[in-house]
Amino acid sequence: MDKPSYKDFCFNGTGTFELASIPTGLGIDEGLKKKYVEATRKNVERIAELQERLYADRREGLLVMFQAMDAAGKDGTIEHVFSGVNPQGVEVTCFKTPSKEELAHDYMWRAWKALPERGMIGVFNRSYYEDVLVVQVHQMQKGYNMAQRNIGLPSDEFYAQRYEQLSNFEKYLDQNSYRVVKVFLNVSQEEQHARFLSRIEEPVKNWKFSAGDLAESALWPQYMEAYQQVISNTSSVAAPWYVIPADQKFVARYLVSELVKDVLEDIDPQFPQLSEEEVAAMQPLREQLLAERNGEEA
Ligand code: AMP
Ligand code: MG
Repeated sequence: MDKPSYKDFCFNGTGTFELASIPTGLGIDEGLKKKYVEATRKNVERIAELQERLYADRREGLLVMFQAMDAAGKDGTIEHVFSGVNPQGVEVTCFKTPSKEELAHDYMWRAWKALPERGMIGVFNRSYYEDVLVVQVHQMQKGYNMAQRNIGLPSDEFYAQRYEQLSNFEKYLDQNSYRVVKVFLNVSQEEQHARFLSRIEEPVKNWKFSAGDLAESALWPQYMEAYQQVISNTSSVAAPWYVIPADQKFVARYLVSELVKDVLEDIDPQFPQLSEEEVAAMQPLREQLLAERNGEEA
């Protein structure tokens, strides 16, 4: 069975990017779901092995960011792809509506604080990209307590500056031994509405729905235009965007698990090797421990 590859949905700043031409679903036969789930499980196992090495090695950090419209499957994808890894090696941060304290700072402040140490996997459920998406769609910057020379700029200029800031920030991360992976879970509005319906109809899912979600969905064209701008202006080799078809959850989860696995394989983290002297220095200690144990047994 030939499965699709995340590589077909990678944008690294070369060529043109046209969101409208990228599929939200690949129409994979639901009968193949088991195979995808099994392939995802294998990837999750491999991710766990590589994560242990990454943690021991500590030369590189991995940052995986998820952006999407509501109900596209961010939470479920994060849950499935990172389910096998040692909880000590992963930090998930959700970016919600900023608090008063956060709004009193520059927008990168809260993201910077959430950056993982090298050796860790940081997962951003939403990210600083909200500051060029929801904030741009609603022109929230106009209400910020900031200098007129900044928020008084025409919107295009204000956001062009932010795209440059984001690209520079990600270049900085790359130059400081972080891998930056950006995932846009690309769901159709039709599928989103089907998922909203089940959030309303199934009591255990009610908590996931808020009336505001439908109001945001009504701004679909504005959001797609914002994603179009954002992805074309912030894709780079150092920090590519992956526009993952998300209408079928099992396909999206598989593709993201492949992506994360491959990035970790590419880092190729190694367990630290001790020098010959260090290994030799441990030998007398080994003998001491053995003698103690033999003494106890005698
Ligand atoms: P949820 O992910 O459903 O819990 O919702 C989080 C909400 O916070 C979403 O509606 C986001 O658009 C919103 N949000 C996240 N970051 C920002 C931001 N920088 N400014 C305004 N709203 C934000
Ligand atoms: Mg929500």
